[in-house]
Amino acid sequence: MSTAMQPLTQRSRQVSNKKMSLMERIYLPAIAKGMMITLKHFFTVKAATVKYPEELRPMSKVYRGMHVLKRDDQGRERCTACGLCAVACPAEAITMVADERKKGEEKLYREEKYASIYEINMLRCIFCGDCEDACPKEAIFLTDRLVPTDYQRRPFVYGKEWLVEPLDPSLRVDVSKRQTPEVLKFKEQRQYSHNR
Ligand code: SF4
Ligand code: SF4
Repeated sequence: MSTAMQPLTQRSRQVSNKKMSLMERIYLPAIAKGMMITLKHFFTVKAATVKYPEELRPMSKVYRGMHVLKRDDQGRERCTACGLCAVACPAEAITMVADERKKGEEKLYREEKYASIYEINMLRCIFCGDCEDACPKEAIFLTDRLVPTDYQRRPFVYGKEWLVEPLDPSLRVDVSKRQTPEVLKFKEQRQYSHNR
């Protein structure tokens, strides 16, 4: 016994093979009707475009834009070149070279190991935030800063000079929108706690 096919949506229409009238064959009324709809939208619908860069589109509080490599309260780089962010990255956008901290460099690097080279290929990055989630040192965060455009490929490989935040406390990059009280409370749990 065959079962009748049920339509998945209500959008299907019966095809009509009836002969077109003269008015339908010259198409002009249909074109005029279409133009009326276009004109109506031209004068009544609010523009969806913004006059960037003078005007900025409102962004989500947790917009995932350009990364920052954070320093700690004493200005030392937090990253210890463990490579977890690179392993977590689905786009294989992160590369780094680890180095050992030498005597006298304790004020520069927080841990005994640090990244002498740390690069993110912004053309590969899909801004998923997995690197931020994987980092056990709270060293990397995505921010609401936009990656500037360019005509060349090479400038899109961002090194430490682009990624590490400035030493000047007044120029530090604020990540408190991502480190909300709820997130910090979550990290207090021993099994999820980060080495802060
Ligand atoms: S945001 Fe995602 S794609 Fe971009 S570097 Fe981090 S893990 Fe890789
Ligand atoms: S940013 Fe974090 S996860 Fe990546 S290498 Fe540095 S410490 Fe490890």
